[in-house]
Amino acid sequence: MLIYEYKLDGSKQQYAAIEEAIRVVQFIRNKCLRKWMDSRGVSKNDLQCYCAVLAREYSFASSLNSQARQAAADRAWFAISRFYDNCKNHKPGKKGYPQFQHDNRSVEYKQTGWKLEPDGKHILFTDGCAIGRLRLVGNPKQQIAAFPIKDIKRVRIVRRADGYYVQFSVQAQRHIEHVPTGKQVGIDVGLNAYYTDSQGETVDNPRHYRKAEKKLKKLHRQLSRKQKESSNRKKARKQVAKAHLKVQRQREDFARKQANALITSSDLIAYEDLKIANMVKNHHLAKSIHDAGWGQFLRWVSYYGSLHALPVIAVAPQWTSQQCSDCGTIVKKSLSVRTHICTRCGVVLDRDHNAALNILAKALAGTLGHRETSGSPENASGQTASTRRSKRATSKRAG
Ligand SMILES: [Zn+2]
Repeated sequence: MLIYEYKLDGSKQQYAAIEEAIRVVQFIRNKCLRKWMDSRGVSKNDLQCYCAVLAREYSFASSLNSQARQAAADRAWFAISRFYDNCKNHKPGKKGYPQFQHDNRSVEYKQTGWKLEPDGKHILFTDGCAIGRLRLVGNPKQQIAAFPIKDIKRVRIVRRADGYYVQFSVQAQRHIEHVPTGKQVGIDVGLNAYYTDSQGETVDNPRHYRKAEKKLKKLHRQLSRKQKESSNRKKARKQVAKAHLKVQRQREDFARKQANALITSSDLIAYEDLKIANMVKNHHLAKSIHDAGWGQFLRWVSYYGSLHALPVIAVAPQWTSQQCSDCGTIVKKSLSVRTHICTRCGVVLDRDHNAALNILAKALAGTLGHRETSGSPENASGQTASTRRSKRATSKRAG
């Protein structure tokens, strides 16, 4: 799936209509969830049927396109099935019991309820929500009109801090002819550099990380000084949201470009399979920005890897930084020790370079790694994590 995104240009009334549609989606999702809670044994199909019941009962629900209503029910089912999966797989910790949603920001149409004008510059929403005709603002090089309408599988309107956007999910088999480079690369995504590869090259963190971080800190401070419920606080909150959005976009852009460069210059990529979700949960701003960027980077590496049909291999993280890449001796060191000095063979390497070499070696040995792009053989911990992760990656991109 390719995602094409445009900003929407419309009137205040149209934006209000979008807001209403977003509220209806949340209403349907929560109603479906309530039905599941009240009568166990409810299936996905039951929820789909329930949409029609809701549309008969509530006139505002009936104004939303029927496929969009079903997409809302699908969201409830997604939360439910994730909970079931977690229980079935005995996921440690919380199982993610489905929650009612209060902060929905999007509405998703499938293949009906909208029309794209032939010039590809306007979209018309034809259901009862009265959103009407909106202008698409975006990079002129991305031409959604170039795709056959039947390949546009979903149209999603999303609210962001600086306005409304529309995303088109296009089913297209994109493939890029890879020019072999003879290079196999292991990468270690450390704290100091953006990443270090097995040849000792590093890509530095972009400078805007620190700049953005400073600005965000300042805005957060300002926000905390504003009186609760005041209009100044509202304004300050909006500024914080906009600053976050800007950082997010810069980060995404950087991650995508770096990933593309990495894939184009190698024939095989190995990385450490860290549980990124666990790592982002810290409140230290600098680190959380960094960690989030890292997960994003690896998703783009997988994405470009699949376009080029290259193996992108995740390896288990055990010992990659402690082991000597030359002789295999375990040389214990804390995070602050930046250099690997082997006590047995005497090799001296930058800590991250040593780790990157180990990551590559593990991937090539094959026994501990699992392939990201081709199929999903079991990994070291016996889970087929790779397919699940790549699914999550797509849904994240879409959201
Ligand atoms: Zn050694």
